[in-house]
Amino acid sequence: MDILKLMQVHGHELVGFHQDPATGLRAIIAVHSTVLGNALGGTRRWAYASTDEAVTDVLRLSEGMTYKAAAADLPMGGGKSVIILDKPGQQPTEAEGRAMGRFVETFRGTYIAAEDVGVSPQFCDWMAMETRHIMGGENVSTGGDPSPFTARGVFNSMKACLAHAGMSDFPSLTIGVQGCGATGFKLAKLCREAGAAVIVTDVHVPSMKRCVEELGCMAVGNDRNLFHEKLDILAPCALGAVLGPETIPHLRCRIICGTANNMLVDPVRDGRVLQQRGIIYSPDFIANAGGLIRLAGLYLGMTESQIDAKVAGIEQTTSEVLREAATRPSTAEAAIEYAKRRIQRPKAKAAAATRG
Ligand code: NAD
Repeated sequence: MDILKLMQVHGHELVGFHQDPATGLRAIIAVHSTVLGNALGGTRRWAYASTDEAVTDVLRLSEGMTYKAAAADLPMGGGKSVIILDKPGQQPTEAEGRAMGRFVETFRGTYIAAEDVGVSPQFCDWMAMETRHIMGGENVSTGGDPSPFTARGVFNSMKACLAHAGMSDFPSLTIGVQGCGATGFKLAKLCREAGAAVIVTDVHVPSMKRCVEELGCMAVGNDRNLFHEKLDILAPCALGAVLGPETIPHLRCRIICGTANNMLVDPVRDGRVLQQRGIIYSPDFIANAGGLIRLAGLYLGMTESQIDAKVAGIEQTTSEVLREAATRPSTAEAAIEYAKRRIQRPKAKAAAATRG
């Protein structure tokens, strides 16, 4: 793998590698862009099969954070970090968290860490014992669990999709939610409160049961696949890479709008296929920006009402991207163009100032 070449192709500014002999920590931090501001993005703990796989993931995720922040009109750049676990399910420790915090500190604020898969508010607090450049803890750092804001933002994005499709409001809808975890459960709750029928699925059966018992959702039986169901909205809220050649031909939904990151296996190819099939896809980094808005907002000193207004603004942003997509091959490409315009704006201003 030629890392510098990959950085050139995707426009990454900085990638740092670290191994800590005392704790065994192996980690990578990638800063994709600081054009709009310091790069905020979560730390993922994952048992990658190889270092190459970890590098690929951190480069892809950090680039996505640049677009997410830009599209949400936040003065923040995009970054991400990964911790390479020795085995799946490896329990986090304070020593590991503190070692990661020291690594984050070496970036002196250019990179600001937060939660991601495998990282809890407690882990963020352990990191915060060594660096100020971390959001998402509850005691040492601030922000806590961003999932309520992520779910709310996706719900707002759904409203824009429905208006774009000329579809009637929630009480007449059937919505499928894949993944009943932190974000999926809260999204299902919002949909139920708005009057929709909600069908859920989760590989972790107790999480699915909770949605049935507490929210009155219906569960997909073992013999059925949620992605094959006739739905108004499909909300992937579990893993990435769930929409590709193996799943898209079977879809019977009108709209896709969920919390999962990187839903499309290949954003260009699969975004275009969805558009050709007449399925409205709300680009993931537009729809699921609520959590980032919350943590970045607190970092930037925004008030709760300013943060709420920005999360509400996801509806407007989704509408704008869907409108622009009418003259583009896909909503996924329209969303990247939309974000890139925001990133290029400061350069255009700087160029104008230089010209005097
Ligand atoms: P989570 O771990 O709390 O929940 C994920 C759920 O998905 C779990 O209950 C898990 O059992 C289930 N699941 C895993 N594989 C599945 C499968 N194949 N089929 C059905 N269910 C499956 O995670 P979360 O915080 O809710 O995040 C979900 C997605 O949203 C992730 O892709 C994450 O990157 C993205 N996201 C989360 C946030 C946030 O604020 N937490 C913000 C932006 C994006």
